[in-house]
Amino acid sequence: MSNKNLDAYSQLIQALRILPNVGAKTAQRMAHVLLQQNREGAEKLAQALDNALKQVHNCALCNTFCEDELCYLCADKQRDKTRLMIVHMPADVVAMELARCHDGLYFVLMGYVNPTQNMDLSQIALDKLVARLSASTVSEIIIATSFTAEGDATAYIVSELLKEQPYKVSRLARGMPLGSELEYVDAGTLAQAVYERQLLQENKEM
Ligand SMILES: [Zn+2]
Repeated sequence: MSNKNLDAYSQLIQALRILPNVGAKTAQRMAHVLLQQNREGAEKLAQALDNALKQVHNCALCNTFCEDELCYLCADKQRDKTRLMIVHMPADVVAMELARCHDGLYFVLMGYVNPTQNMDLSQIALDKLVARLSASTVSEIIIATSFTAEGDATAYIVSELLKEQPYKVSRLARGMPLGSELEYVDAGTLAQAVYERQLLQENKEM
């Protein structure tokens, strides 16, 4: 049965299933909340989704979500443009900014490399990272991926990409709890992991 033959209720349930960890049962419960219990909330959700789809896109430099061509951090002339921190998600940028331990710029991969799924590189914005680095004044790169299997795999792929490149490269210190996502680590621990970052490769002459 093609999509256009489904009634609106079934289409909603099918659409909800694009969300992570939402199967048929959860999608049905969600549809019940939206259509039966909280139609006002559902209107707000529909409006917010519509607005976000029209207004939010990726920053031309760091790839995070923003509404202008550049995000507020990339547009800030006070930031140290020689230091670039590579993170998974926009939430990681927020966590780092709260920890006040990095005054350079960021690059947001927008995903993780999953070692149990054939290291699928299409899940991270490697091409954009290469383009970002080719037109920049970056000399030091800090790989700030999480200390999970996905974070380790992502850090490996990025460090391999940067090999033979003239950057000083480091990764966050292992002081962070194993299995932790950056956004759930407290600011003090995060700052310490940045200050004690582990050198992966020295700055090379071009
Ligand atoms: Zn940006």
